[in-house]
Amino acid sequence: MARYSLLTFGCQMNVHDSERMHEVLRGAGHVEVADADAAEVVVLNTCSVREKAEQKLLSEVGRLAKRKRSEPALVVVVAGCVAQQEGERLLSRERAIDIVIGPDNIAELPRLLEDVALGGPPTVRTVFDVDSPRFLTATSVAGAAPTAFVTIMKGCDERCSFCIVPTTRGPERYRPSGEVVAEIAALVASGVREVTLLGQTVNSYADPSRALPPAPGADPSDPDESEFAALLRHVAAEVPALARLRYTSPHPRHLTPSLIRAHAELALLARHLHLPVQSGSDRQLKRMIRRYTRAEYVDRVRALEAAVPGLTMSTDVIVGFPGETEEDFEETLSMVRELDFKGLFAFKYSPRPGTPALKLGDDVSEDVKSDRLARLFEVSEALLGAHLESLVGTTPRVLVEGPGRDPKTYSGRSDRNAIVHLDGADDLELTGSIVDVVVTRAYKHSVAGELTPAARAAAAPRRPAPKPDRRRLTVVAAEEPEACPS
Ligand code: SF4
Repeated sequence: MARYSLLTFGCQMNVHDSERMHEVLRGAGHVEVADADAAEVVVLNTCSVREKAEQKLLSEVGRLAKRKRSEPALVVVVAGCVAQQEGERLLSRERAIDIVIGPDNIAELPRLLEDVALGGPPTVRTVFDVDSPRFLTATSVAGAAPTAFVTIMKGCDERCSFCIVPTTRGPERYRPSGEVVAEIAALVASGVREVTLLGQTVNSYADPSRALPPAPGADPSDPDESEFAALLRHVAAEVPALARLRYTSPHPRHLTPSLIRAHAELALLARHLHLPVQSGSDRQLKRMIRRYTRAEYVDRVRALEAAVPGLTMSTDVIVGFPGETEEDFEETLSMVRELDFKGLFAFKYSPRPGTPALKLGDDVSEDVKSDRLARLFEVSEALLGAHLESLVGTTPRVLVEGPGRDPKTYSGRSDRNAIVHLDGADDLELTGSIVDVVVTRAYKHSVAGELTPAARAAAAPRRPAPKPDRRRLTVVAAEEPEACPS
């Protein structure tokens, strides 16, 4: 049994995969160590969506290759999207790598490590489980974090021209609704209050077990219709103790009337949606093969906002996609202002091997991309700042996720997705509670507040801090998880 360390690059899906890797490694008796330099096995869970993440992987592998010269028994595993995409090529490029393993082969990792320990040659295992998709269930741990992710589908059938995900994650495969509900119920029984349903295009969901009744308002003749709204209703009905439900990342195409109706009728759903738009220019949306127009995106968001008063929106944008003119970019800026996004992940386009957009070239200069990114952030920061200021004096309901950086404070999120820091409650036990908070101050990206008198009176006194639970998952991300571009 080996001491191992696991480093995660990229999106929330990778963070979730890393949690499953921890579980299979621990299940096989391997022990995680905090200090990567003390590890006998180093697993790098990689991302290939952006050039930056791939470069970080290669520099990490280079560092491990140097270490391996003095520690030849060190085992280096490359997992995730770069592993899936590059496969054998990674082994020939970097001789320090022992195992290349794709996202669908995580369960095989302990066996592959055994083979290497017995002197086996470097191995590549990157086979999609298309015929019988497998979803690893999260292990429920009492007292774990009050929020959790649950995968409901994997892969992607879209063909956005900038995106490598259909190659690295394969075609769409869905998890039976019964399995989804069982995992959520087990998590809730162990103390989880909020679940985020996870998938590359999460709202294209179709139940392979065909167990879901159609959602009210679902139009089977609509090519954008899916069974996602039906799944949301099923989760709400079957797990009544769940306090809050979110999902990521939806595709705008599948924000159908039945899904909007589910948002209107299910109090369980957070009043926030992250809906990637990528560009406000129809010309660019077409070149990106996004399969919606600006007007269609706006119409769907407006319908959702009308159905859910107070809903907040956030989005993803790519700047400097091939052919983007100043006018195209101005349309993106105007759209961000028009829809008043309260959060924005934005990236400079970088050509990715194996994507259709490669043939479009990369004709927007680095300086122009940087300038556009800065201007976009300036607009989005102003919108977020105004929103956070408007919250001062209001009383949002906040799910307390745990102590803040200062252990005398707590932090959590409102159902409209504002990050809230709680002062003056260090004598109370609040982790996992949903409490009413009076917002007293706005910061740049969050707000501060205090419990209402009623919430304070209802809270229990703080318990002594428990000893660290070694079974808890510790996913170390090499960088803040970013959105996978859906
Ligand atoms: S951007 Fe999202 S929807 Fe488009 S191909 Fe990539 S994963 Fe699929």
